[in-house]
Amino acid sequence: MISSSDPKDAIRDKCGVFGIYAPGEDVAKIAYFALHSLQHRGQEGAGIAVSDGIKLRSIRNLGLVTSVFNEQNLSKLKGFIAIGHNRYSTTGGNTKENTQPVILSLKHKVFAVSHNGNIINSEELAKKLTNVKRISTSDTEVLAYTIYYASGEKWNEKIINAAPLFKGAYSIVACSKKRLYAFRDPWGFRPLVLGKLNGYHVVASESCALETIGADFIREVEPGEVIEINRNGIVNLGKIKAAGASKKFCLFEYVYLARPDSLLNQQLVHSVRFRSGQLLAKEAPIKADLVAAIPDSGTSAAIGFASELGIPYGEVLIKNRYIGRTFIQPEQHIRELGVQIKFNVLTKIIAGKRVVLVDDSIVRGTTMKKIVEMLKKSGAREIHLRICSPPVRWPCYFGVDTPNRHDLIAAKKSVAQIREFIKADSLKYLSLSGLIEASAQKQDSLCTACFSGRYPLPVKHNFRKNILENTAS
Ligand code: SF4
Repeated sequence: MISSSDPKDAIRDKCGVFGIYAPGEDVAKIAYFALHSLQHRGQEGAGIAVSDGIKLRSIRNLGLVTSVFNEQNLSKLKGFIAIGHNRYSTTGGNTKENTQPVILSLKHKVFAVSHNGNIINSEELAKKLTNVKRISTSDTEVLAYTIYYASGEKWNEKIINAAPLFKGAYSIVACSKKRLYAFRDPWGFRPLVLGKLNGYHVVASESCALETIGADFIREVEPGEVIEINRNGIVNLGKIKAAGASKKFCLFEYVYLARPDSLLNQQLVHSVRFRSGQLLAKEAPIKADLVAAIPDSGTSAAIGFASELGIPYGEVLIKNRYIGRTFIQPEQHIRELGVQIKFNVLTKIIAGKRVVLVDDSIVRGTTMKKIVEMLKKSGAREIHLRICSPPVRWPCYFGVDTPNRHDLIAAKKSVAQIREFIKADSLKYLSLSGLIEASAQKQDSLCTACFSGRYPLPVKHNFRKNILENTAS
């Protein structure tokens, strides 16, 4: 998928979470590097909260990890527990108040929460918090207060008692002054992994973060599992109960959201994407001179596609990797260049060639149309599009910011009409069964709703990102 400057032309990553319990280590710096490797999961804001057992201090702000933190402010976060968060908003707008970790500090009790996912019944839960003055419009603050007011003396009791009230996706790291907690919704929509660093435990959204900080992968936090990490190690606090819930891991994590070097359900994401390219080549073979990817999301699949058909793999688009990292608005004439700001074409490589262009998905189609036009102008003889997932026809309500249904091109047009709109010489998508086969997961353990419309739990199709704005006190 091409992450466009047009917010409606991309499925946005959600959030990345991290936690560490490690007396004697510089936990703030470790959290910083872990968040850095999870930056792909959210680029709107970042935050770290650190407890030294007596006081919990935090820094949160809008922007990338590298712009929120520096040596000076990190050095003020001293302690032995840290939790961190990278945000992309799925409920509540892109404001500083909505950055995380969310911190509740009430009657000498302190609780900090980093959340990846989306609580679809947050509006109902918010209406029950009549005595609470919320400062944000995020579902995470509602979740944190619901835990605070749940029955039980200790945080672990409160978490177990409150969790059955939450509907939707939540992979969470949280901490009190003395303990770290990790828990995941009973459907297990979003990933959450456990690791070990110098004998201490860490929790992260993806295993790539463990490698970055030199931690060993232990296992995934199971769907519905609640764990506490304290000075004695891991304490299993039991399972969250939700009637009728069973594992429904997000299939789109394999397609686009996770990093290719992460392990999800024991499968390396790169290998899943490679296999999806191979299977698509079997389903929709084509004669061509060159297979290329839309960088970077289509790369693993393009290599798989090329290897299956014995066609050379090469690059045709060079990505300007830092253009999305600027906060300076380009001048009008540069803005009008559109995708040309993001990609340069290797004109000499594609002139006169039949090119297969592989990508993971098409959302609105407008950016893909411009890329095809750009490649044809640069002399490509034919452009054949191969998409390594089925058409995205339904919005996600479980922590991924998709456009409204009427902005999803595949919800309105047939594949033939999409090909015509994009002006490619051919267009084929991988079948849903092909993608499930590539993931090496059991079909009934996956959420496939954005492709199939089969939502694992009832959703309201009028869900809005700003749903909590009218319920804020
Ligand atoms: S709807 Fe799509 S993006 Fe959302 S959780 Fe399900 S598979 Fe993932």
